[in-house]
Formats: sequence, structure tokens, C-alpha cells
Amino acid sequence: MKTIGIVGGMSCESTALYYERLNAQARARLGGLHSAECVIWSVDFAEIEEMQASGDWAAAAARLVDVARRLEDAGAEVLVLATNTMHKVADAIESVVTVPFVHIADATADAIVDAEFSRPGLMATAYTMEQDFYVGRIRKRYGLDVRVPGDDDRAETHRIIYDELCKGVRLDESRDIYRAIARRLVEGGADSLILGCTEVGMLLGEGDVAVPVFDTTLIHADRALDLALAQ
Ligand code: GLU
Repeated sequence: MKTIGIVGGMSCESTALYYERLNAQARARLGGLHSAECVIWSVDFAEIEEMQASGDWAAAAARLVDVARRLEDAGAEVLVLATNTMHKVADAIESVVTVPFVHIADATADAIVDAEFSRPGLMATAYTMEQDFYVGRIRKRYGLDVRVPGDDDRAETHRIIYDELCKGVRLDESRDIYRAIARRLVEGGADSLILGCTEVGMLLGEGDVAVPVFDTTLIHADRALDLALAQ
């Protein structure tokens, strides 16, 4: 098994979900006492969030490139950046590491195409929903007709991620808000739903939404494990 390097801490809540998923899947696939070989570097998310809010993506890229290098030095043979939003700087990371980098949008889009859906709704941070690095990539490379929520619903989705989920807070009222936003996406024509923020699965899953759900955290972790276990 290859060693998976996780650029984590964005937030720490979702990095814990990656760790849990990788180990559960390693056990499910290999049996016995198997678990995932991995190295995690978990950053202080407050620093990264300040860079996001001030638009200093160059500083964020430099910080994460440094982390990726450290993980590679520590033995990582497959790398994941455990956040959708920070894939805004994925190119900078990919250009310096020598090991395979698993892009979260590619893994997710592949899963949607394989399942033969074409109009995914997207619930994520405002950066991910509104900028081209994510939605544009999925539209151009995979031909998917990505649907994003309306203005108020995007603001509310974003607020709940930063004010609650990234702090480990799960509120029933926020789950209801997320269910309603997902419902409006489906009413608007979405045939599936991307949980496009690695914390959204803390509130929403299959059963909350009338269409199939694609949870980027689980898909990304599973893809990394596929690579780690490939001969
Ligand atoms: N984990 C989140 C994501 O997948 C948001 C936190 C961040 O900005 O990295 O986008």
C-alpha cells in the first residue's frame, strides 16, 4: 500500500472525516486489521481563512505548496488537498510535487459521469460556487451542466460552513435550511447534488435530498485509496 499525504486542517472537522473514511475503506477492502497508511499535515485554518477573505491567494498557495513538499519529504506517495475551496491553488501544488495529486473536482465529476447524471446542483463555499476554478473545470472538462443556488441560498450555504460546520457545530435548523436549498436546486432541474465542500456531509446525506448525492469528501478519500492500493 502506498502512503497517502493529506494537506489538511481546512477545516480540521473535514480532515477527521477523511481519516475516518480512509481507514474504514481500507478495512472494508483489505479486511482484518488493515488501515490506511497516511501522513496528515493539518494547518491552522484561521490563517488560511484570513488569506481567503483578503483575497491573498498567492500567500495561501505558498503556504500549501510548503505543506505539500513537507508531506512528500515525509514519504507521501499520493497527495490529496482535503478541501474543495483551496483547489483554487491546486495548480501551484501540482506543479511542485512529483507524486500523483488527486484533484477533488475531477474525482467527483468522474463519479457523476459514471453514474450517468449531467445536471448536478452544487452546495459549497461562495468561492467554489462563484469562481471559475471549480465550476468552470467541471463544465469544460466533463460537460456537466452545474447548477448553483440563488444569491440568498449561496450566502446561507457559505455562512453555515464557516460559522458552524468548520467549528464542529451541527444544528438541526441548519440541516433544514440545507435541505430546503437542495430542494430548490432539484426543483430548478438538478438531477444530482454535489456536496462541494468537505464539511457539508456533516449535515446532508442521501435521504435528505430527492436526488443522488455526491459527497466530495468520501469520493476524494476513496479515489486516493484506489491509487494507494493500485499495483
Ligand atoms: N472545507 C471546505 C471546502 O471543501 C471549506 C473550507 C475551506 O475554505 O477550505 O471547500
